[in-house]
Amino acid sequence: MTAVRIDGKALAAKVRAQVAEDVKAFGEPVCLATILVGDDPASHVYVGNKHEASHEAGIDSRDHRFPSDTPESEILDLLAELNADDEVDGILVQLPLPEHMDEAKVTRVVDPAKDVDGFHPTNAGLLFLGEPFLVPATPSGVMVMLAEHGVELKGKEAVVIGRSEIVGKPMAMLLLAEHATVTICHSRTVNLAEHTRRADVLVAAVGRPGIVTPEMVKPGATVIDIGVNRTDAGLVGDVDPAVFDVAGLMTPVPGGVGPMTIAMLLRNTLTASQHRRSKVALPGS
Ligand code: NAP
Repeated sequence: MTAVRIDGKALAAKVRAQVAEDVKAFGEPVCLATILVGDDPASHVYVGNKHEASHEAGIDSRDHRFPSDTPESEILDLLAELNADDEVDGILVQLPLPEHMDEAKVTRVVDPAKDVDGFHPTNAGLLFLGEPFLVPATPSGVMVMLAEHGVELKGKEAVVIGRSEIVGKPMAMLLLAEHATVTICHSRTVNLAEHTRRADVLVAAVGRPGIVTPEMVKPGATVIDIGVNRTDAGLVGDVDPAVFDVAGLMTPVPGGVGPMTIAMLLRNTLTASQHRRSKVALPGS
């Protein structure tokens, strides 16, 4: 068997085109502000891509970049300004931040109504309570992929490898909301393969090249590879490409989940704008 490849690039283009249409129909300016501290080349590329994609979707953007020795207080002051700025709908702090900054503290200063990354405890809590508002872009992009391919989740075994706040945990919550039976694996999981072999839907979000091998996968399963690993052989995922011979449906790396992340960030920015400009209180507040 050779798995059907999920084309993340094509699907992301479709989502972005839909967001552009929805921005036009909304008829009000939508604005995303980004903050980048330091000189990590990958982060500069990611932020550049986010601005380009915003522009294409008709979303205005503001680009705040700082040298790596910027005091944390300067970033907190800017966040306070952006929170109060009525023209700014979405705020994104590009991670990782330099070591002298407390990432949890900084991301928690973002107004939850403008938190387009969905990292604020209010947004994490709303997802946990089954009232999602702004959901982290990578796992929500995975859900769009699964829906597009008609992957049945109700009553199915879903296994997520990884339990980070920004990928693994929200991924598990979204699968649970669709009535999958969800198992979360992590670095202390004993006999990982015993869990993964049960999965109808297997999601790898670890950051270790090839941690998922063909014998760990149930034949015909849907395999989603979120991992992005820079190796001498180029960009690779967490799933050994030989898994294509076992799975039924699978994402490639690159060209799978990655492109969906930016598309969903644009969707979140529009959602934040629509919500804030309609002066509706946050769910549950
Ligand atoms: P992270 O914070 O480092 O979390 C990695 C998770 O993997 C942790 O929960 C860790 O367990 C678990 N893990 C580590 N070694 C393991 C092992 N041997 N067996 C089972 N689990 C293990 O990383 P992240 O931010 O979630 O990102 C995960 C991957 O996704 C990375 O490659 C990242 O680059 C990629 N990513 C891609 C996108 C995209 O747009 N495509 C977006 C975000 C992230 P513990 O909790 O026990 O330490």
